[in-house]
Amino acid sequence: MKYLVTGAAGFVGSHLCTSLLSEGNEVWGIDDLSSGKEENIEHLKGNPRFNFIEGCISDESQLIKLIYKVDIIYHLAAVVGVKHYVEDPTRVIDVNVCYTSSLLENAWKLGKKVVFTSTSEVYGKSESIPFAEEDDRVYGPASTNRWCYAISKSAGEYLCLGYAKQGLPVVILRYFNVYGPRADDSAYGGVATRFINQALARTPLTVHGDGAQTRCFTYIDDIVKATMEAGKRPEAEGRIFNLGRERETPILELAKMVLKVSGTEGEIVFQPYKEFYGSSYEDIRRRIPDLSAARQILGYNPSVTLEEGIRETLNWYRNRNNRSG
Ligand code: UDP
Repeated sequence: MKYLVTGAAGFVGSHLCTSLLSEGNEVWGIDDLSSGKEENIEHLKGNPRFNFIEGCISDESQLIKLIYKVDIIYHLAAVVGVKHYVEDPTRVIDVNVCYTSSLLENAWKLGKKVVFTSTSEVYGKSESIPFAEEDDRVYGPASTNRWCYAISKSAGEYLCLGYAKQGLPVVILRYFNVYGPRADDSAYGGVATRFINQALARTPLTVHGDGAQTRCFTYIDDIVKATMEAGKRPEAEGRIFNLGRERETPILELAKMVLKVSGTEGEIVFQPYKEFYGSSYEDIRRRIPDLSAARQILGYNPSVTLEEGIRETLNWYRNRNNRSG
Protein backbone atom coordinates (compact mmCIF):
# COMPACT_ATOMS: atom_id res chain seq x y z
CA MET A 1 0.00 0.00 0.00
CA LYS A 2 0.97 3.62 -0.48
CA TYR A 3 0.64 6.06 2.39
CA LEU A 4 0.93 9.81 2.90
CA VAL A 5 1.90 10.88 6.42
CA THR A 6 1.56 14.59 7.20
CA GLY A 7 3.75 15.64 10.12
CA ALA A 8 6.15 12.82 9.21
CA ALA A 9 9.13 14.30 11.05
CA GLY A 10 7.18 14.78 14.27
CA PHE A 11 7.23 12.47 17.27
CA VAL A 12 4.28 10.20 16.39
CA GLY A 13 4.70 10.74 12.62
CA SER A 14 8.28 9.46 12.58
CA HIS A 15 7.33 6.30 14.52
CA LEU A 16 4.34 5.72 12.26
CA CYS A 17 6.48 6.03 9.10
CA THR A 18 8.97 3.54 10.57
CA SER A 19 6.20 1.05 11.25
CA LEU A 20 4.51 1.48 7.84
CA LEU A 21 7.86 0.95 6.09
CA SER A 22 8.65 -2.13 8.19
CA GLU A 23 5.48 -3.73 6.81
CA GLY A 24 6.73 -3.20 3.25
CA ASN A 25 4.61 -0.17 2.37
CA GLU A 26 5.62 2.85 0.32
CA VAL A 27 5.50 6.09 2.31
CA TRP A 28 5.43 9.76 1.37
CA GLY A 29 6.10 11.93 4.39
CA ILE A 30 5.62 15.68 4.44
CA ASP A 31 6.71 18.06 7.19
CA ASP A 32 7.55 21.78 7.29
CA LEU A 33 10.02 21.13 10.15
CA SER A 34 8.40 23.88 12.24
CA SER A 35 8.28 21.51 15.20
CA GLY A 36 9.24 18.22 13.52
CA LYS A 37 12.95 17.49 13.25
CA GLU A 38 14.98 16.08 10.41
CA GLU A 39 16.93 13.93 12.87
CA ASN A 40 13.64 12.09 13.70
CA ILE A 41 13.59 10.59 10.20
CA GLU A 42 17.33 10.31 9.60
CA HIS A 43 17.12 6.51 10.02
CA LEU A 44 14.54 6.32 7.18
CA LYS A 45 16.37 8.41 4.61
CA GLY A 46 18.23 5.47 3.00
CA ASN A 47 15.02 3.47 2.51
CA PRO A 48 14.02 3.54 -1.19
CA ARG A 49 10.34 3.19 -0.19
CA PHE A 50 10.48 6.41 1.87
CA ASN A 51 10.02 9.76 0.16
CA PHE A 52 10.38 12.88 2.28
CA ILE A 53 9.09 16.27 1.22
CA GLU A 54 10.05 19.31 3.25
CA GLY A 55 7.06 21.56 2.80
CA CYS A 56 3.83 22.82 4.26
CA ILE A 57 0.42 21.24 3.67
CA SER A 58 -0.87 24.76 2.99
CA ASP A 59 0.72 24.38 -0.48
CA GLU A 60 -2.41 22.94 -2.08
CA SER A 61 -0.99 22.04 -5.50
CA GLN A 62 1.80 20.01 -3.85
CA LEU A 63 -0.70 18.41 -1.49
CA ILE A 64 -2.96 17.33 -4.36
CA LYS A 65 -0.02 15.71 -6.17
CA LEU A 66 0.83 13.75 -3.04
CA ILE A 67 -2.76 12.69 -2.30
CA TYR A 68 -3.02 11.52 -5.89
CA LYS A 69 -0.08 9.11 -5.42
CA VAL A 70 -1.32 7.26 -2.31
CA ASP A 71 -4.09 4.95 -1.05
CA ILE A 72 -4.38 6.23 2.53
CA ILE A 73 -3.55 9.52 4.28
CA TYR A 74 -2.50 9.77 7.90
CA HIS A 75 -3.10 13.39 8.83
CA LEU A 76 -0.91 14.17 11.85
CA ALA A 77 0.44 17.63 10.96
CA ALA A 78 -0.76 20.04 13.65
CA VAL A 79 0.32 22.61 16.19
CA VAL A 80 0.62 20.56 19.39
CA GLY A 81 1.86 21.43 22.89
CA VAL A 82 0.13 23.42 25.61
CA LYS A 83 2.57 26.36 25.54
CA HIS A 84 1.85 26.81 21.81
CA TYR A 85 -1.91 27.04 22.46
CA VAL A 86 -1.39 29.64 25.09
CA GLU A 87 1.08 31.72 23.06
CA ASP A 88 -0.24 31.52 19.49
CA PRO A 89 -3.93 30.60 19.13
CA THR A 90 -4.14 32.05 15.60
CA ARG A 91 -1.60 29.60 14.27
CA VAL A 92 -3.33 26.74 16.10
CA ILE A 93 -6.58 27.48 14.25
CA ASP A 94 -4.87 28.11 10.88
CA VAL A 95 -2.97 24.83 10.87
CA ASN A 96 -5.34 22.55 12.75
CA VAL A 97 -8.56 23.76 11.10
CA CYS A 98 -7.88 25.57 7.80
CA TYR A 99 -5.17 23.27 6.46
CA THR A 100 -7.13 20.22 7.65
CA SER A 101 -10.18 21.45 5.77
CA SER A 102 -8.23 21.71 2.52
CA LEU A 103 -6.63 18.29 3.00
CA LEU A 104 -10.01 16.64 3.63
CA GLU A 105 -11.64 18.34 0.66
CA ASN A 106 -8.90 17.11 -1.66
CA ALA A 107 -8.91 13.59 -0.17
CA TRP A 108 -12.67 13.48 -0.69
CA LYS A 109 -12.38 14.68 -4.30
CA LEU A 110 -9.75 12.03 -5.03
CA GLY A 111 -11.55 9.32 -3.01
CA LYS A 112 -8.66 8.60 -0.56
CA LYS A 113 -9.15 7.32 2.97
CA VAL A 114 -8.03 9.59 5.85
CA VAL A 115 -6.99 8.73 9.40
CA PHE A 116 -7.16 11.96 11.42
CA THR A 117 -5.34 12.23 14.73
CA SER A 118 -7.27 14.17 17.31
CA THR A 119 -6.72 14.42 21.05
CA SER A 120 -8.06 13.72 24.52
CA GLU A 121 -7.94 17.51 24.96
CA VAL A 122 -11.32 17.65 23.13
CA TYR A 123 -13.03 16.45 26.34
CA GLY A 124 -11.82 19.66 27.97
CA LYS A 125 -12.39 19.89 31.70
CA SER A 126 -15.37 17.52 31.77
CA GLU A 127 -15.69 15.75 35.12
CA SER A 128 -17.54 12.79 33.66
CA ILE A 129 -14.76 10.22 34.14
CA PRO A 130 -13.90 8.07 32.18
CA PHE A 131 -14.34 9.90 28.87
CA ALA A 132 -16.29 7.95 26.23
CA GLU A 133 -16.30 9.08 22.62
CA GLU A 134 -19.94 10.22 22.72
CA ASP A 135 -19.60 12.15 26.00
CA ASP A 136 -20.21 15.88 26.40
CA ARG A 137 -17.21 18.21 26.22
CA VAL A 138 -16.65 21.12 28.59
CA TYR A 139 -14.50 24.16 27.78
CA GLY A 140 -13.54 27.34 29.59
CA PRO A 141 -13.97 30.89 28.30
CA ALA A 142 -12.63 32.22 24.98
CA SER A 143 -10.32 34.53 26.94
CA THR A 144 -8.40 31.45 28.14
CA ASN A 145 -6.20 30.54 25.18
CA ARG A 146 -5.69 26.95 26.26
CA TRP A 147 -9.08 25.91 24.88
CA CYS A 148 -8.21 26.92 21.31
CA TYR A 149 -6.50 23.57 20.78
CA ALA A 150 -9.54 21.55 21.88
CA ILE A 151 -11.77 23.77 19.72
CA SER A 152 -9.42 23.39 16.73
CA LYS A 153 -9.27 19.60 16.97
CA SER A 154 -13.05 19.41 17.54
CA ALA A 155 -13.51 21.47 14.38
CA GLY A 156 -11.19 19.04 12.56
CA GLU A 157 -13.35 16.15 13.78
CA TYR A 158 -16.53 17.88 12.53
CA LEU A 159 -14.91 18.38 9.14
CA CYS A 160 -14.01 14.67 9.03
CA LEU A 161 -17.52 13.60 10.00
CA GLY A 162 -19.00 16.05 7.48
CA TYR A 163 -16.96 14.57 4.63
CA ALA A 164 -17.71 11.05 5.94
CA LYS A 165 -21.42 11.79 5.39
CA GLN A 166 -20.53 12.61 1.80
CA GLY A 167 -18.73 9.30 1.37
CA LEU A 168 -15.13 9.93 2.53
CA PRO A 169 -13.73 6.90 4.41
CA VAL A 170 -12.34 8.47 7.58
CA VAL A 171 -11.24 7.36 11.06
CA ILE A 172 -10.69 9.74 14.00
CA LEU A 173 -8.24 8.88 16.81
CA ARG A 174 -8.11 10.72 20.14
CA TYR A 175 -4.67 10.22 21.69
CA PHE A 176 -4.18 10.42 25.48
CA ASN A 177 -0.81 11.83 26.66
CA VAL A 178 1.56 9.93 24.39
CA TYR A 179 5.25 9.76 25.35
CA GLY A 180 8.36 7.91 24.22
CA PRO A 181 11.63 8.36 22.33
CA ARG A 182 11.78 11.43 20.04
CA ALA A 183 8.97 13.29 21.84
CA ASP A 184 9.51 17.07 21.98
CA ASP A 185 11.89 17.76 24.89
CA SER A 186 11.60 21.55 24.74
CA ALA A 187 9.40 23.64 27.04
CA TYR A 188 6.64 22.99 24.47
CA GLY A 189 6.72 19.22 24.98
CA GLY A 190 4.70 16.99 27.29
CA VAL A 191 5.37 16.54 30.97
CA ALA A 192 6.84 13.00 30.86
CA THR A 193 9.57 14.07 28.42
CA ARG A 194 10.24 17.23 30.39
CA PHE A 195 10.69 15.33 33.64
CA ILE A 196 12.97 12.76 31.99
CA ASN A 197 15.22 15.45 30.55
CA GLN A 198 15.23 17.41 33.79
CA ALA A 199 16.31 14.24 35.62
CA LEU A 200 19.07 13.55 33.07
CA ALA A 201 20.29 17.16 33.32
CA ARG A 202 20.18 16.88 37.12
CA THR A 203 17.99 19.95 37.37
CA PRO A 204 14.89 20.03 39.61
CA LEU A 205 11.70 18.44 38.25
CA THR A 206 9.10 21.19 37.97
CA VAL A 207 5.68 20.01 39.16
CA HIS A 208 2.93 22.51 38.39
CA GLY A 209 0.30 23.34 40.99
CA ASP A 210 -0.09 20.73 43.73
CA GLY A 211 0.84 17.78 41.47
CA ALA A 212 -2.44 15.96 42.26
CA GLN A 213 -3.76 16.52 38.72
CA THR A 214 -3.72 13.26 36.78
CA ARG A 215 -3.11 11.95 33.27
CA CYS A 216 -3.11 8.49 31.64
CA PHE A 217 0.28 8.22 29.98
CA THR A 218 0.49 6.07 26.87
CA TYR A 219 3.65 4.66 25.33
CA ILE A 220 4.28 5.38 21.65
CA ASP A 221 4.48 1.70 20.57
CA ASP A 222 0.94 1.00 21.79
CA ILE A 223 -0.31 4.11 19.99
CA VAL A 224 1.39 3.29 16.68
CA LYS A 225 0.07 -0.28 16.70
CA ALA A 226 -3.52 0.95 17.07
CA THR A 227 -3.01 3.75 14.54
CA MET A 228 -1.91 1.14 11.98
CA GLU A 229 -5.00 -0.97 12.74
CA ALA A 230 -7.23 2.08 12.29
CA GLY A 231 -5.98 2.39 8.71
CA LYS A 232 -6.51 -1.31 7.96
CA ARG A 233 -9.91 -2.16 9.41
CA PRO A 234 -12.94 -1.15 7.29
CA GLU A 235 -15.22 -1.45 10.34
CA ALA A 236 -13.36 1.52 11.91
CA GLU A 237 -14.45 3.92 9.16
CA GLY A 238 -16.77 6.75 10.15
CA ARG A 239 -15.90 6.29 13.85
CA ILE A 240 -13.99 8.00 16.66
CA PHE A 241 -11.67 6.08 19.01
CA ASN A 242 -9.98 6.95 22.28
CA LEU A 243 -6.40 5.63 22.40
CA GLY A 244 -4.72 5.74 25.77
CA ARG A 245 -4.35 3.73 28.95
CA GLU A 246 -6.75 3.46 31.87
CA ARG A 247 -4.04 3.71 34.56
CA GLU A 248 -4.35 7.20 36.10
CA THR A 249 -1.15 8.82 37.39
CA PRO A 250 -0.88 12.02 39.44
CA ILE A 251 1.84 14.32 38.10
CA LEU A 252 3.73 14.25 41.41
CA GLU A 253 3.78 10.44 41.25
CA LEU A 254 5.14 10.65 37.69
CA ALA A 255 7.95 12.91 38.88
CA LYS A 256 8.86 10.45 41.66
CA MET A 257 8.79 7.53 39.22
CA VAL A 258 11.10 9.32 36.77
CA LEU A 259 13.59 9.97 39.57
CA LYS A 260 13.41 6.34 40.73
CA VAL A 261 13.91 4.92 37.22
CA SER A 262 16.74 7.36 36.48
CA GLY A 263 18.48 6.31 39.67
CA THR A 264 19.18 9.94 40.59
CA GLU A 265 18.57 11.73 43.86
CA GLY A 266 17.05 14.72 42.03
CA GLU A 267 14.92 17.38 43.55
CA ILE A 268 11.21 18.07 42.91
CA VAL A 269 10.02 21.68 43.03
CA PHE A 270 6.48 23.03 42.84
CA GLN A 271 6.01 25.73 40.23
CA PRO A 272 2.93 27.98 40.01
CA TYR A 273 1.03 27.55 36.71
CA LYS A 274 1.22 31.28 36.08
CA GLU A 275 5.00 31.28 36.16
CA PHE A 276 5.17 28.72 33.33
CA TYR A 277 2.13 29.47 31.17
CA GLY A 278 1.30 33.09 31.98
CA SER A 279 -2.20 34.05 33.04
CA SER A 280 -4.17 32.59 30.08
CA TYR A 281 -4.16 29.04 31.38
CA GLU A 282 -6.46 26.63 33.10
CA ASP A 283 -5.51 23.03 33.89
CA ILE A 284 -7.48 19.82 33.51
CA ARG A 285 -7.64 17.95 36.83
CA ARG A 286 -8.32 14.41 35.60
CA ARG A 287 -8.31 12.75 32.20
CA ILE A 288 -9.07 9.04 31.76
CA PRO A 289 -10.19 7.23 28.60
CA ASP A 290 -12.96 4.71 28.13
CA LEU A 291 -11.29 2.26 25.75
CA SER A 292 -14.24 -0.05 25.01
CA ALA A 293 -14.64 1.03 21.37
CA ALA A 294 -10.91 0.74 20.57
CA ARG A 295 -10.71 -2.68 22.23
CA GLN A 296 -13.75 -3.96 20.36
CA ILE A 297 -13.13 -2.55 16.87
CA LEU A 298 -9.33 -2.09 16.69
CA GLY A 299 -8.35 -5.03 18.93
CA TYR A 300 -6.50 -2.42 21.02
CA ASN A 301 -4.70 -3.75 24.08
CA PRO A 302 -2.04 -1.36 25.40
CA SER A 303 0.66 -3.42 27.09
CA VAL A 304 3.53 -1.11 28.05
CA THR A 305 3.43 -0.11 31.72
CA LEU A 306 4.40 3.40 32.74
CA GLU A 307 7.56 2.20 34.44
CA GLU A 308 8.66 0.20 31.36
CA GLY A 309 7.87 3.11 29.04
CA ILE A 310 9.72 5.62 31.22
CA ARG A 311 12.74 3.30 31.34
CA GLU A 312 12.82 2.90 27.52
CA THR A 313 12.40 6.63 26.96
CA LEU A 314 14.98 7.59 29.54
CA ASN A 315 17.54 5.21 28.02
CA TRP A 316 16.86 6.63 24.57
CA TYR A 317 17.44 10.25 25.71
CA ARG A 318 20.51 9.21 27.71
CA ASN A 319 22.03 7.59 24.58
CA ARG A 320 21.09 10.57 22.43
CA ASN A 321 22.73 12.97 24.87
CA ASN A 322 25.87 10.80 24.95
CA ARG A 323 25.99 10.74 21.13
CA SER A 324 25.70 14.51 20.89
CA GLY A 325 28.40 14.91 23.49
N1 UDP B 1 3.28 19.83 33.95
C1 UDP B 1 4.13 19.90 35.05
N2 UDP B 1 5.44 20.25 34.82
C2 UDP B 1 5.94 20.50 33.59
C3 UDP B 1 5.07 20.40 32.46
C4 UDP B 1 3.74 20.05 32.69
O1 UDP B 1 3.73 19.67 36.18
O2 UDP B 1 7.15 20.80 33.47
C5 UDP B 1 1.87 19.47 34.18
C6 UDP B 1 0.86 20.37 33.46
O3 UDP B 1 0.60 21.55 34.17
C7 UDP B 1 -0.35 19.43 33.43
C8 UDP B 1 0.27 18.04 33.22
O4 UDP B 1 1.64 18.17 33.66
O5 UDP B 1 -1.04 19.44 34.66
C9 UDP B 1 0.25 17.55 31.80
O6 UDP B 1 0.82 18.57 30.97
P1 UDP B 1 1.22 18.34 29.47
O7 UDP B 1 1.82 19.61 28.98
O8 UDP B 1 2.02 17.10 29.34
O9 UDP B 1 -0.13 18.12 28.64
P2 UDP B 1 -1.72 18.15 28.89
O10 UDP B 1 -2.09 16.78 29.35
O11 UDP B 1 -2.07 19.21 29.88
O12 UDP B 1 -2.26 18.44 27.53
